[in-house]
Amino acid sequence: MFESLTTKLDSIFSQLRGRGKLSESNIKDAMREIRLALLEADVNFQVVKDFVERVREQSMGQEVMRSLTPGQQVVKIVRDELGALMGGEHRPLSIATRPPTTILLMGLQGSGKTTAAAKLARTFKDTGHRPMLVAADVYRPAAIDQLRTLGASLDIPVYAQDDSQDVAGICAQARETARSGNHNILIIDTAGRLQINDELMQELRDVKTVAPPHHSLLVVDAMTGQEAVKVAQAFDEEVGIDATILTKLDGDARGGAALSIRAVVGKPIQYIGVGEKLDALEPFHPDRMASRILGMGDVLSLIEKAEQTIDEETAAELEQKLRKASFTLEDFQDQLKQIKKLGSLDSIISMIPGLKKANLPSVDDSELKRVEAIISSMTLEERRNHLIINGSRRKRIARGSGTEVGDVNRLIKQFTQTQKMMKSMMGGQKKGKGKGKGR
Ligand code: GDP
Repeated sequence: MFESLTTKLDSIFSQLRGRGKLSESNIKDAMREIRLALLEADVNFQVVKDFVERVREQSMGQEVMRSLTPGQQVVKIVRDELGALMGGEHRPLSIATRPPTTILLMGLQGSGKTTAAAKLARTFKDTGHRPMLVAADVYRPAAIDQLRTLGASLDIPVYAQDDSQDVAGICAQARETARSGNHNILIIDTAGRLQINDELMQELRDVKTVAPPHHSLLVVDAMTGQEAVKVAQAFDEEVGIDATILTKLDGDARGGAALSIRAVVGKPIQYIGVGEKLDALEPFHPDRMASRILGMGDVLSLIEKAEQTIDEETAAELEQKLRKASFTLEDFQDQLKQIKKLGSLDSIISMIPGLKKANLPSVDDSELKRVEAIISSMTLEERRNHLIINGSRRKRIARGSGTEVGDVNRLIKQFTQTQKMMKSMMGGQKKGKGKGKGR
């Protein structure tokens, strides 16, 4: 996500930060470079022009020029303007007072619409709502099946009529079914086409008349860059949209669509898709994303995610074990599972300030998988007491996990060292308290 832009901006800013004073020509040079970086990131030309002008004007202001840390001030201006460009503050989707809250998802084929429908339903379910999905892509039976499969995997009902092509009728009927079944959120997955055409637009207009949605969201593929912006413009003019869901941002190193769409179309980005899995949907916070782009991380989102995914009881138990230094490989395995729920290591690292730049070579998902496989190949007894893992057991574990004995040795050694370190830390604390030593 945004990697190439982050790298370029970082090098521009490190030059600025290094200076005690900034001259007009320093700022002019920096603005030219920012302009180039944004254009290379495939941001809309007019958007870049206006953006750079706003940043330049503020950077030339007396407060910045006279400040003790002018470079830092310019970075702050860029961050604020990037946030504003993407829409300022995040506003969650409102819930209708009279259920069901109806969310219409539109988009071209392949944009990730069906996946987004399931991800969105999952988000609502996780926050205590009772969502129902509607398969309104009546021309592709495969699409209906796809939604049914996704719904089943999440244990969320899917409304479909296999023999009807009356999309507006299906949506109206689905609403009644949701009402009588006490489902308060209705997510409609409409038909996609390879390209925008009149038939599709008319169908969507009909749906909006018969079953007026509370939220009309357009799903667009971030990897298509400015094409996504054009698609959004067309849908907004022809059908009307309230916001967008920008998918596949995980595969988009440039970020042109994310940075242009709000300014060009005038509609906010509501959610971003950051992976194929059903938990890879995030509410879009423009201000936090601006910090992430500038390599400042996004601790707030990480904490929110952790609060949603890591259950408190396990965390409290773990804390107790750490205090008593009775932390075993079994606990370590649980811990890894919790971390994995937060997303890929890459995505976690990008949220922690400074870590992305640190370029940690040894931390990647495959290493994590290897460690997991090794621990899974151990018996419960071995996990609870690693001291019994002798040579022949190590060979068996390596075979079972498809790794080498060296890998198993390394893991056990690292674990032993961590345990020792924890013991000495906890022991040190006790001593400090008991004998009144320390600070
Ligand atoms: P639809 O035709 O618009 O309904 O698109 P699908 O939901 O079937 O998605 C098309 C492809 O994009 C599938 O292979 C999805 O797994 C993939 N996809 C969807 N959203 C994301 C995302 O946020 N990140 C990545 N990497 N892939 C995605």
